Amino acid sequence: MFHGKVRAVGFDADDTLWVNEPFFDQAKAEVAEMMSVHLPSEKFLEVLEKTLSRNIKSFGYGVKNFVISMIDAANQVAPGNVKSSEIERMIDLGRAMLFNPVELIEGVEEVLQTLGSSYELLMITKGDVAEQQRKIDLSGMAEYFDHIEILTEKDGAAYESILRKHSIGHEEFLMVGNSVKSDILPVVTIGGSAVHIPFHTTWVNEVVCDGELCGREYVEISEVSELLPLLIYS
Ligand SMILES: [Mg+2]
Repeated sequence: MFHGKVRAVGFDADDTLWVNEPFFDQAKAEVAEMMSVHLPSEKFLEVLEKTLSRNIKSFGYGVKNFVISMIDAANQVAPGNVKSSEIERMIDLGRAMLFNPVELIEGVEEVLQTLGSSYELLMITKGDVAEQQRKIDLSGMAEYFDHIEILTEKDGAAYESILRKHSIGHEEFLMVGNSVKSDILPVVTIGGSAVHIPFHTTWVNEVVCDGELCGREYVEISEVSELLPLLIYS
């Protein structure tokens, strides 16, 4: 389908190459349970999501913003009543996340190996540089990529600048990722192609309503191995 047109393939990392969001979901559930004496869990999670989104502007993506936002949300819900032991637990949860193992998503390595002989491969991830670099190192996936980019935000301008830097034409570029907001929408908007591989859990801040896609087209597959028929055997 993309064969003959595309020459460079970008891969998102978190929840596309390796598992990430479930670690955040687990910590959110524990803190929501801890705060349930003040507010029902689902209500606390709503406050936490709003706080996370707001704090990204100040603290960026990643575990540090997550820890600050858990404490911030707890303090909004129970001002003056958050125990120091609860704050300590939130910090510990965050600290543990910085040492999580990296679990590759099934089929990723074989797909990268196969595509690497025919395409220029880019890993394009966003977040805290040290956090993302640790996962990149632990994953052992760096060797399959020609370029690795760690961004603070994945928007059209960021993708434009990567394509310019590596002299890749818009129509020659295909992005693969689990987030419509970060991996699909900005790329199809600038004239590239995109393949969406939904992960079973996607952060609410990464979910866009259908209207924002404005009828733009992208391909959706359920497993990374389904890229091969689209890029090699067609
Ligand atoms: Mg992702």
